[in-house]
Amino acid sequence: MFDLKQAIEKANHVTFLTGAGVSVPSGIPDYRSKNGLYAGHQNPEYLLSQDNLRDHPEDFYKFVKASMYYPDAKPNVIHEKMAAISNEKGTIVTQNVDGLHAKAGAKHVVEFHGNLYRIYCQKCHQTFNYQQYLQSDRHEKDGGILRPDIVLYGEALPEQAISQAVSAVGEADLIIICGTSFQVAPFSMLVNYAQPNTQIVAINEQRLRLPFKFEMIQADAQQVFQAL
Ligand SMILES: [Zn+2]
Repeated sequence: MFDLKQAIEKANHVTFLTGAGVSVPSGIPDYRSKNGLYAGHQNPEYLLSQDNLRDHPEDFYKFVKASMYYPDAKPNVIHEKMAAISNEKGTIVTQNVDGLHAKAGAKHVVEFHGNLYRIYCQKCHQTFNYQQYLQSDRHEKDGGILRPDIVLYGEALPEQAISQAVSAVGEADLIIICGTSFQVAPFSMLVNYAQPNTQIVAINEQRLRLPFKFEMIQADAQQVFQAL
């Protein structure tokens, strides 16, 4: 059987590519599963789109405020072990917008889709804290609409996040995919920047089908990280 612990010990640079599954044990629902964020919504991707924010800012705000903020969520063992490993020799590139990798103490984190807890006014770009946003989505001073600094459907990814993610993948001799089915581009395209000899491992309860060579660890990620 593949020995993850040994692979991590031998590696010079470990890059983690993480998704919603990593935060589920912290009580944050994922997007697409039965009880996920999108459950019961006809067109959930529209709710989180640039068009919805522009055309129906009150619907956007209502959905985000009611469904996405979990300020009391705590990092779990996956976040903690990843933080320790990446602080020593690696990077975490995450699709998650919950900030839990940083909360676990990880210093080398690329938040590919931004962070829900960073808020800014679309009109004047002043920043706010999330508590202010949860009170109101209007900037009283100029009437601007506040929004979280996350990448919405229809929006481009920040260039800095792309370049940091691409270099983290290019530097890695071990890539660990965790908490994601790794089907959604452009995140899933990041492996194209890996060196040819870089080992790729995926940890997931369901077997993944991916268009490249990788080691599948079919298990509960919490148990896998607990054992490291
Ligand atoms: Zn403003």
